[in-house]
Amino acid sequence: MQYVSTRGASPALSFSQAVMQGIAPDGGLYVPETFPQVSLSDIAALAGLPYDKRAVKILAPFVDFDLPTLEKMCAEAYCQPNFDHPAIAPTTQVGEAFHLELYHGPTFAFKDMALQMLPRFMAHALKASGAKEDVVILVATSGDTGKAALEGFCNVEGTQVVVFYPDGGVSPTQKLQMITQRGDNCHVSAVYGNFDDAQTGVKKLFASEEFAAQVKACGGKLSSANSINFGRLVPQIAYYFSAYADLLNLGAIKLGDEVDFCVPTGNFGDILACHYAKNMGLPVGRMLCASNKNNVLTDFINTGVYDKNRPFHKTTSPSMDILVSSNVERLLYHLLGEDGQKVAALMDELAATGRYELPEEAKNELQSLYYAGWADEDAVNEEIATLYGEGHVADPHTAVASRVWRAQKKAGDASCVIVSTASPYKFSRAVLSAIAPLRVGEDELALAAQLEEVSAIPMPEKLAELANLPVRHGGVCEKEAMGQTVLDFLR
Ligand SMILES: *Cc1c(COP(=O)(O)O)cnc(C)c1O
Repeated sequence: MQYVSTRGASPALSFSQAVMQGIAPDGGLYVPETFPQVSLSDIAALAGLPYDKRAVKILAPFVDFDLPTLEKMCAEAYCQPNFDHPAIAPTTQVGEAFHLELYHGPTFAFKDMALQMLPRFMAHALKASGAKEDVVILVATSGDTGKAALEGFCNVEGTQVVVFYPDGGVSPTQKLQMITQRGDNCHVSAVYGNFDDAQTGVKKLFASEEFAAQVKACGGKLSSANSINFGRLVPQIAYYFSAYADLLNLGAIKLGDEVDFCVPTGNFGDILACHYAKNMGLPVGRMLCASNKNNVLTDFINTGVYDKNRPFHKTTSPSMDILVSSNVERLLYHLLGEDGQKVAALMDELAATGRYELPEEAKNELQSLYYAGWADEDAVNEEIATLYGEGHVADPHTAVASRVWRAQKKAGDASCVIVSTASPYKFSRAVLSAIAPLRVGEDELALAAQLEEVSAIPMPEKLAELANLPVRHGGVCEKEAMGQTVLDFLR
């Protein structure tokens, strides 16, 4: 399998090369040249396998190394106690919907599903290439990617990780997780600004030849652990197949029935992995793209116009507080007949004006594949309370998706899987204030303990430890100084 750039002006690469490269030299993102096909009988066979073996079956055609290596990677990543649930990514029924729980990994958010694999891909590629330089992984995070990348790469030989998060733009638990990170190769800084500032800053560094030369002088070569890296997307495809297999096991569907997926969306990586699963033959009905008050994607899908010129809102679902969703570029590539020049033209327009409009045909295809909706903060709080009434405690991101699903559901719909992306413990304050009276002024651990009382879900051990860990990364920088900050870390 070869990987090509969405902007069509960079050479095709192997999987390992694409993972190491991160973003293509022409500024595009790598996409597979074709999609491997998975038959219904292959899907039926997944039902009898544990999660790591399901993942092997789905990932194998994408990677460029041997099967035993992939089997070892999946077995080491998707195991207990690395994940705190024997099924790794269980699917459970909640009311009339199903929840695919992707938050049982070491950092309690779905990013672990991919970021427990990406470092293994990179370490393997590094070894195979005999590279002498360290890979310097730059990450912009809206809260969850940062910690998941730090955990995934912690003490992985030949790698340095530098994480930037928006100052005041992540939840207290997310911040605490990052600033207490151990590992000599782990570096973290806050940035004055919002997530888009941090993400734009990182993209500028990737595009700068001068910066690449400075990093090289420090013995490094840049790469990315954000979902612009194709190595992030491929492990995510597997859990859509796995959820389908779970529904077969639960007797909720028959083989071949279509299933809808409702995905709380920010950078469009998670839902794009669903799209890829559909391309590979998974019977996916509708893909429901759920947004919070930062509803740029709702408008894009409903009108064909992408327009980031709008106010930025801070919400209780910070990992979705995004106005420029990177992976939409991959979607455009598929909607525009895989024409890199057309993609490049729209991306140039976005950079220059903050806006672009899809041609009619592409818009129609987009709307035939996706449904879009959004939920404001009151609706999210109501949804957390409604789900609590159904015996389930959801985090605010999952609640956004559940609300969007609930608002449009009608009799006769296909079964719907709501992608459940974070543990409620990561957002204790927001969850508690929606379901139980909140005693103001309490610290995060006290809030988590309160949540444990009302939810009857045990608090993750790693979360309980957090409050006692020393702060190792307290710095903040201006967005113009991100490059200098990276160089200071490396020297
Ligand atoms: C990252 C994240 C999302 C959004 O996923 P994208 O792939 O960026 O669309 C949703 N929920 C949580 C909890 C996240 O961490």
